[in-house]
Amino acid sequence: MIEDKNTPRTALSELGEFGLIQHLTKKFKISQESTVYGIGDDAAVLDFADKKCVLTTDLLVEGVHFDLAYMPLKHLGYKAVMVNLSDVYAMNATASQITVSIAVSNRFPLEALEELYAGIHSAAKLYNVDVIGGDTTSSTTGLLISITALGHAKQEEIVYRNGAKENDLLVVSGDLGAAYLGLQILEREKQVFAVNPNEQPDLTPYTYLIERQLKPEARKDIKALLKALDVHPTSMIDISDGLSSEVLHLCTQSNVGANVYEDKLPLDPTVISTCEEFQLNSTTVALNGGEDYELLLTISQEDYPKIKANPNLTVIGHITDQKSGVGLVTRANEKIELQAQGWNPIKE
Ligand code: ADP
Ligand code: MG
Repeated sequence: MIEDKNTPRTALSELGEFGLIQHLTKKFKISQESTVYGIGDDAAVLDFADKKCVLTTDLLVEGVHFDLAYMPLKHLGYKAVMVNLSDVYAMNATASQITVSIAVSNRFPLEALEELYAGIHSAAKLYNVDVIGGDTTSSTTGLLISITALGHAKQEEIVYRNGAKENDLLVVSGDLGAAYLGLQILEREKQVFAVNPNEQPDLTPYTYLIERQLKPEARKDIKALLKALDVHPTSMIDISDGLSSEVLHLCTQSNVGANVYEDKLPLDPTVISTCEEFQLNSTTVALNGGEDYELLLTISQEDYPKIKANPNLTVIGHITDQKSGVGLVTRANEKIELQAQGWNPIKE
């Protein structure tokens, strides 16, 4: 954390736990019909009427999932919400509530938590979700933040990972690899800063990449888009651990195989140029980079005409039988087996 001596630093002990919770949550207003009661009692009360409720949770740990040397707390708050909403959208559900739990050490002043909560607040407002509760405790080491997101959908709208069928098309939203490259840029600047703190790097050419890393946006729009196009995916998953690993998850759960075509992978021009600069293979980055928070889905071939002109969706391959395995068909028309190189915290 870069500490500015001019900004005020209010010790958390000045407020006490209840004062702190009240201070951090006073801006949150309830706007969802399904929220009967939010923050303030022993538990929140929700009513999803005739809808099914989906629930997902994620835990982010300082030093494992984020580095405060280049991750501003406001962005961290925003990103922590996105990580969860992305999972709700991957069920083809509408996100409506979140809870936020934090463990903080006393090296954080109140102002730091205000920043974190400013990011959470802006994400909640923009994505139209109510913050309905959480928990606050102390940590003897780093910062921990755990968010739980709730959403709802009609039973027939929900899309699981296990519904992909042979001959379905494999489709991805947005583009791939940018968030990983954003991290490489930030890591590089951190090293440069360590050697020469006065150097002001020009990061303008990398704006898109850095934004994808520091301020990812979850694909709230895809449910509405698919509905408008009258397409119901047969399966769906969010791409947080890299495309390879998510294609493998989807195929394992659906008992199918898949061919992904190298020349179809959607890459932003800055991904291509930055891969050249870093001497990285752009296909490897797109397949294994991770943190793109896009959605991977399968659709029936019949639905192809409905999506083919849509700039948000790219067909990258198709589903095969399980025996054929999961492979990448290269530009040279060779098939190589896809391996999950996505980030796996257990292996670290
Ligand atoms: P309890 O003793 O039941 O755990 P708390 O005093 O921790 O209750 O919390 C009081 C209220 O504030 C509850 O509604 C809880 O969900 C909410 N809350 C606590 N911590 C947070 C937080 N970090 N962010 C948002 N809401 C919180
Ligand atoms: Mg509590």
